[in-house]
Amino acid sequence: MQAADVVIVGGAVMGSSAAYWLTRMQPGVRVVVVERDPSFVHAVTALSVASIRQQFSTGVNVAISAFGIGFIRDFQASLGVDVGIGSLGLRENGYLFLGHSTEAPGMMAELAALQHGYGAATQVWTPDQIKARFPWLEVEDLTAGSFGPRDEGWFDNMGLLAGFRMAAKLQGAVFLTDEVVGVTMDAGRVAGVQLAQGGALACGALINAAGTRASVVAQMAGLDLPVEPRKRTVFVIDAPNARHPEAPLLVDAGFYLRPEGNQWITATVPQDDCVCDAKDFDPDLHLFEDVIWQQLYARAPGFDAVKVVRHWVGHYDYNTLDQNALLGPHPMVPNFYCMNGLSGHGLQQSPAIGRGLAEHVLSGGWQSLDLSDLSVERVVTGTPFLERAVV
Ligand SMILES: Cc1cc2nc3c(=O)[nH]c(=O)nc-3n(C[C@H](O)[C@H](O)[C@H](O)COP(=O)(O)OP(=O)(O)OC[C@H]3O[C@@H](n4cnc5c(N)ncnc54)[C@H](O)[C@@H]3O)c2cc1C
Repeated sequence: MQAADVVIVGGAVMGSSAAYWLTRMQPGVRVVVVERDPSFVHAVTALSVASIRQQFSTGVNVAISAFGIGFIRDFQASLGVDVGIGSLGLRENGYLFLGHSTEAPGMMAELAALQHGYGAATQVWTPDQIKARFPWLEVEDLTAGSFGPRDEGWFDNMGLLAGFRMAAKLQGAVFLTDEVVGVTMDAGRVAGVQLAQGGALACGALINAAGTRASVVAQMAGLDLPVEPRKRTVFVIDAPNARHPEAPLLVDAGFYLRPEGNQWITATVPQDDCVCDAKDFDPDLHLFEDVIWQQLYARAPGFDAVKVVRHWVGHYDYNTLDQNALLGPHPMVPNFYCMNGLSGHGLQQSPAIGRGLAEHVLSGGWQSLDLSDLSVERVVTGTPFLERAVV
């Protein structure tokens, strides 16, 4: 049986980030990343809308994004290894959350104050201020808007993944194309993993970075994780009468929208949102016509002539307890580590979460950032740690 200090199950953005940080922090540590499909064609990472914001409702999530934006903005310098990816093409157009209720202005002001505490520049606007900045939006039904004038936007998801992978490899991590099909236990701890192609790997610790399959991997160690795949259909649309390259990522009541080159990306959360088959990538095409388009046209009349030019389906790795990351060692199996349940905001969190997990594996505790609010204990005690700003 081959041996590793750490086996990472899943080699997309979370697994590769953990591998990168482990090998950066402790040169010589034996890290093996097992990835069943290195084309990543169905990985959440590859199917992401790839945006980053500081506008979260919990301090820990703002702190995670504050680290993430710096890392992403100066990617090559942050990695510290030249992997030939100079930039992730970050577009800092900001996020604009629209408020519709009488409570929205107060709630947005409260959240902005929290975010300022972590260095964010969130501004709370009146409807008139929204109109002044983005005259192509209708604002009559709004009560407020919350805008991030810096540190928010979108970037190259596959560049981030490739950078972490290449840097981790250069630093000595081994990437295997195989599937983990079993976990061997010894005295309540993970002793190794079994592989689909017949091999086995002994390990000192296991990191579960299996995305939408995180609960399947956890069950191999006798553990329950409340993580399930939930389908999201994303539409790329052409709107010749709406060319606004300066547009932010707009979060309205029933959809979100952002520019992508000369086109736009938009999506919604299905009303009957529920678990889906991990192999089901059939698009819910009716969502554009039935749900998004009417609202979009009401918000911005320039979207009168719209053509869907492309669509794709991705699955959120959805944490049903509280839509927040589940991080760190599992209390029942202390060398089984989780970086799961990212619920639609994991890409931007991967730099900080990979660093945090690596520090925890190597030192036994959280170091640079205290991520204990997101620890797996809350699954065992059934105590949610709610994030209100889930898009
Ligand atoms: C439509 C959509 C939009 C999104 N938009 C954003 C956004 O704007 N901003 C943001 O931050 N996040 C966003 N996300 C979420 C973000 O993309 C994910 O949280 C993040 O990419 C998760 O990465 P991961 O590595 O945990 O999972 P994945 O990318 O799914 O990777 C898991 C990997 O594990 C492998 N694997 C699974 N089981 C095994 C096994 N047994 N053995 C070996 N390998 C295994 C899989 O093949 C896969 O490659 C979005 C997601 C979707 C679907």
